[in-house]
Amino acid sequence: MTEKRNETPISDLDTPVPEPGEAPCRIDRRGFFRGAAMLTVGGLGATAGLAQTNAPRDSAPAAAAAAATERLQAQTQRAQRWAGRDPADWVRPRPGVDHNVVIVGGGQSGTAIAYGLKRMGVGQVELIDQAEPGQAGIWRTIARMHQLRTPKTLTGPEQDNPILGVRAWYETLNGPDAFDALDRIPRLAWADYLDWFRQVTGTAARYRTRLLEIEPQGDLLRLHLDSEGVRRVETTRKLVLANGYAGAGGPNVPEFLRALPTDVWTHTASPIRFDALAGKVVGVVGAGSSAFDAAAVALENGAAEVHMFNRRSYVDYPGGARPSGPTDRGHANVPEMTYELPDVVRWRNFLSGDRRVASVPPDSIQRAVAFDGFRLYLNSSLSDVALADGKVIARVGDATRRFDYVIAGTGYRIDLAAQPELAGIHESIARWSDRYEPERGEDNTAGSVHPYLGAGFQFLPREGRRADYLRNIHCFNLAAELSFGKPVGDIPSSVEHPRLVAAIARDLYVESVDPAAQQRFINAPMLPADPAPYQKALERRAREAA
Ligand SMILES: Cc1cc2nc3c(=O)[nH]c(=O)nc-3n(C[C@H](O)[C@H](O)[C@H](O)COP(=O)(O)OP(=O)(O)OC[C@H]3O[C@@H](n4cnc5c(N)ncnc54)[C@H](O)[C@@H]3O)c2cc1C
Repeated sequence: MTEKRNETPISDLDTPVPEPGEAPCRIDRRGFFRGAAMLTVGGLGATAGLAQTNAPRDSAPAAAAAAATERLQAQTQRAQRWAGRDPADWVRPRPGVDHNVVIVGGGQSGTAIAYGLKRMGVGQVELIDQAEPGQAGIWRTIARMHQLRTPKTLTGPEQDNPILGVRAWYETLNGPDAFDALDRIPRLAWADYLDWFRQVTGTAARYRTRLLEIEPQGDLLRLHLDSEGVRRVETTRKLVLANGYAGAGGPNVPEFLRALPTDVWTHTASPIRFDALAGKVVGVVGAGSSAFDAAAVALENGAAEVHMFNRRSYVDYPGGARPSGPTDRGHANVPEMTYELPDVVRWRNFLSGDRRVASVPPDSIQRAVAFDGFRLYLNSSLSDVALADGKVIARVGDATRRFDYVIAGTGYRIDLAAQPELAGIHESIARWSDRYEPERGEDNTAGSVHPYLGAGFQFLPREGRRADYLRNIHCFNLAAELSFGKPVGDIPSSVEHPRLVAAIARDLYVESVDPAAQQRFINAPMLPADPAPYQKALERRAREAA
């Protein structure tokens, strides 16, 4: 299935849209350590309700900030010394191949995977990202909330080294009390933390480099790239797709919007010129977290009215009554085990997630509701959508509404056929519909198109397809959700990084074994070492014997 995609030109993606109260934040504007104590301020500027709990430290004297920065630097260097150097690259090179591993996506996932491979001694790893330096991932571009939606205590890219974790970073710069006072991690603090992590672990990407096409060549992969505007082909043994929520089919756009010109609508996955919405009437389709965040930012930028349409009868948020899940869903304390569950359980987990409404953080709801111009419509959707006199006209129940602009907060879809770089190979990739037949009444179209992944996140071939190379493509994006029982790419999915790293290392290790070299080693004559260390004892005994 192909469809017209709402893709934003890369040049637009490169320009972050600062929110009110946020200073535009680029990593090349400042050192990573210097002034980092103040970096948490930007993400909080516009949230009056959060200002108290998150107590920004922008008034801290420069000397204190500099001291904190030095402490962080010293602490990190000490921890890295104790952890020991990264092991030497043990992977036997394959002649004529450019890379052992290419990771597509320098967001939090790709960065963490690159770090994991480094700590495993896997060399010749290339991390690429189409974004400008400092703009990889979503946190400074299309994420618009003030704070992360996930709890502040989750582990992230640091894997087994807590000193590289966000808590150590934040506490060292701002003090333990400041961390305790946080509700959740401020979004821009998280972005700054990731920049710092990239810097101290040496995992910055090769930016402005986009994967266009994957072309198999035996078990190798020829990657067609656009690197700084130049087309080139590079070969790799392993490929990791850490290309984010939109990386397996793109944003989910309602049909009725796709028919309209793109200057009257967008999706929350694109950068939005909110300042152009001042005085305008905006429709928002969907009532998830990103929809609420976009509505709030539009209102903060002076939108006259924002009308949000939710086809469900309620908006879910944490704290609502919810039945507890069945015990066979997987144990919450071992989330990395969900892959091991039987297919039927993984399928039902997906069904229950698909049927449930994703909950919205209360502060995201409040941020929009605080404006008089905000209207929420339950059990509502738009129909008969058309364009007239530059306005979007739509029916909502019995009424007709006119909007200057419409924003779709309708999430992402899985459709490997719509992912440009998979165009030549997607037909060979096994989907859940190829490997699993749901019980009666449990059919689900959205689930059936998910790739059925192997234990190392690798694609598997459809039956009858000779596509052995697929075992070398590891899918670490939203399409892995069904196989791994969680949205892959989210911070909670960090628990899966070691599994992926181990799988890649294992494959390269097995491939690196050289039986001929082993035989040469075994057959080589033993050359005795210099007897100098025990020479005296030999001489003594010889003298006695004489
Ligand atoms: C608005 C929003 C808010 C979220 N909030 C939270 C949250 O609070 N907590 C949480 O746990 N999760 C959250 N998530 C989910 C998840 O954590 C984020 O999507 C996160 O950014 C995923 O990280 P990633 O590295 O996997 O992908 P991304 O951050 O999306 O990074 C993917 C990278 O791949 C690059 N790329 C894509 N295609 C190509 C290509 N062909 N060639 C080269 N480069 C390419 C992109 O430029 C991008 O830099 C949120 C998601 C969204 C959309």
